[in-house]
Parts: sequence; C-alpha cells; structure tokens
Amino acid sequence: MPLFVPIVRTKMHGISLVGPKGSDSEAVTLGRLKEFHSAGRGFWSSVSDQDWDSWQWQLKNRITTLAQLQRLMPTLTPEELAGTQLANRKLALAITPYFFNLIDPTDEHCPIRRQVIPRIEETTTASWELTDPCGEDSHSPVPGLVHRYPDRVLFLVTDRCAAYCRYCTRSRLVSNASGYDFHPEFDRQIAYIQEHTEVRDVLLSGGDPLLFSDEKLEYLLSRLRAIPHVEFLRIGTRIPIFLPQRITPELCAMLKQFHPLFISVHANHPRELTIETRQALGRLADSGIPLGNQSVLLKHVNDDPVVMKALVQKLLMCRVKPYYVYQCDLIAGSAHLRASVRKGIEIMSALRGHTTGYGVPQFVIDAPGGGGKVPVNPEYVLSHNADRVVIRNFEGKVFEYIEAGGAKPRFKPSEDFVAPELF
Ligand code: SF4
Repeated sequence: MPLFVPIVRTKMHGISLVGPKGSDSEAVTLGRLKEFHSAGRGFWSSVSDQDWDSWQWQLKNRITTLAQLQRLMPTLTPEELAGTQLANRKLALAITPYFFNLIDPTDEHCPIRRQVIPRIEETTTASWELTDPCGEDSHSPVPGLVHRYPDRVLFLVTDRCAAYCRYCTRSRLVSNASGYDFHPEFDRQIAYIQEHTEVRDVLLSGGDPLLFSDEKLEYLLSRLRAIPHVEFLRIGTRIPIFLPQRITPELCAMLKQFHPLFISVHANHPRELTIETRQALGRLADSGIPLGNQSVLLKHVNDDPVVMKALVQKLLMCRVKPYYVYQCDLIAGSAHLRASVRKGIEIMSALRGHTTGYGVPQFVIDAPGGGGKVPVNPEYVLSHNADRVVIRNFEGKVFEYIEAGGAKPRFKPSEDFVAPELF
C-alpha cells in the first residue's frame, strides 16, 4: 500500500484534494486518508530493530542540520533551503528519523513537510504578530508557571521537544534557538501550587514532558499528587506523533499510578496517525488514560473539510477524542501557515452533523495577549427572544423551538424562509 495519498490539486491551494461535496472522489479520498500505514524505515533500513524501536536512538539520530537534511532530501525548495540555513541559530530544527519518513520528498506541498522544515518566511514578522501571542509571560507568577484561568495552571517543565513545529506558540522558548532564558524552578512552581488552594487542575507541558525519563516524570507527578487540592493532572505532548517509541509499557505503568490523569496529544493531519502511533495511543488508552487531540488549523496542511474529517475519524479509531482545533496564534513569522477563521468555521460546519458528535472538536481562538480560549462556532441560532428560538440544523433546515414558559407560537418560519448568511 502506498504511504502517500495521491493528491489532486485544485485552484484554491496546493493540497485541497477533493471533487464536489458528497462526490465519489470525496469518498475515495476520505477512505485513502483514513488508511493506517507504517512509517517504515526509509533511509534507515540497515538499522537494527532494537535501535529503531529505541526512543533514545531516535532522539540521538534526529535531523538537526542543513547538511543532514540536504543529504536526505535533495529536493529542498529555495525557501526551505534559506530557512534551514538559520537552523538552530535563529530557528529550531529537529526531526526524528521516524517522523521524517512521513514526508513525501517529491511533494513540495507535503503537509508533513510544512510542519517541520523551516522556511525563510518564518523570518518575516508583521506588526500584529507576537513572540508571546497568548500573553503567557505576563500571566506567570513564577518562572515556568502560567496562571491565567481561575482553577488551573500550566506547568512548563522543559523547553525541549522531540521535533520542532514551525508554528509553535512557544517558539520563543522551545529549543532555546532564539536565546530565551527558560529556567523553570520546580520547587518554586510546586510551592506556588501548594499555596494556591484554588488550583485543582495542573497541565504539564513545555516543550514536551514525555521527553523526561520515567524517573524524573514520576518524581514530578508524585509531588503534584501529594497536594490535596490538586484533583486532576494533565499532560500535553506530541511524543506519540513524533516519537511513538517513547510510549513504552514501563512509561504507561508509571503514568497509571497518577489517575485521574488525562493526556492531550497533537496531530494535525491524518497521515500522522500511523500504525506505530495507533499502537502507542492504544498502550496509553489501555492504561486508563483518557486521550484528547489538539490540532492547529494550518494552511496547506489541514484547512480542508475532507482532511479534517479523515483526521477526526481516524483519531476516534485510535481511541482519541478530537478536543480542540485552534486557530493558529498570531505567532511571529507564521503568516504563511495561518488559514482564515472563515475557513475554520466552514470546516466545523462540514463536521457538525456530518460525522459522529464525539469526533467534532471545539474550534477556538486563543485571544491574543492572554484572553484565553474563545469558542468560535458556525451560527445555528438564527434568532432568540423570550418566547422562541429559531434554529437551523446541519442541513440548513430551519426549526422553531418554544422557550420554557414561552407563549403559544404566533408564527412559524414560512416554507421559503432563507437563512441569512451569518459569516
Ligand atoms: S511539540 Fe508542541 S511545544 Fe514542541 S514545538 Fe511542537 S507545538 Fe511547540
């Protein structure tokens, strides 16, 4: 079976794949996108199984320089070449061999490639773009801890990731490529949580917490679990996508001591859900860990209803609930990757009612400057007064619901009622 789904280009942009909505070609494309494949060995066919399956080997052999990348992928575009020349001086670069195998080197619009290979456009910043788009630093009472919502905190434990995403909200700090001074002090972070009895939910993130050794992670989780008012622990990680080898039985056995513990993973395109990743997610789910997925809406990656539908359906097959789709933050140098909010709403309309409700994530904008997540939905309520609500369903049909205690209906929408264009 081919790993790469044949792509039919449209005028809109390079990766839109489908024919008319509901057409046979849409169904065929959806089916192909939902197939599970192994990432395979690619250039690393001579490596032993033991090494390939070792997460330490994968980390040690990451692609981090222009020379390595050019050797493996002589098809770099001029934009990628210029971007990669800045690797690890100005722009973070690391790709695990496993994840590299998901790139189609013959396709300059490959949705995997766009997520991890630097481009020179990243050095162009608009005046409305920010190095700290969610205002985390201004909501940080101690280094590495963000307290923005009333009852929960974000506990940043590391600035390292298995691979680096081109659109990272924390690109200011990850990998230390841009010289940000990131030095979390666990004792101070934990002391803050101990003192703030309103904090009932702690989200470990970074960087990627699952890059820690089992022992270090167990130490941190134990200290948090010992705080009586901490009811709920969460880990945000992209490791099952970049480095599924890290999800060992030993790690899962350690994590399951700390329930209730939820994990949010981060997949953007159905091709990221390989056989290896499905197995890794299965090991986490078998350990009783509820799994959610957070995607970022990205231009030429997943700004297509069929791609997103394939992603959410495949996530459910991996026992992962699609949780959020984020509008890409106004990150410095991310204009070439940002899809429009209008496109995000169109995608949500194509999901709601058209696929399993469990598969429909919440589309949110993280309000610039630190306003928190704001849900953005297609409009289903057409009007609402004391007596009645006029709503439309996923097919555009209009219905009237009489409010509790409302008066007898005085009218119904006429047969030819046309819903206004709402966005
Ligand atoms: S894995 Fe997460 S923290 Fe790391 S670079 Fe990607 S988006 Fe940023």
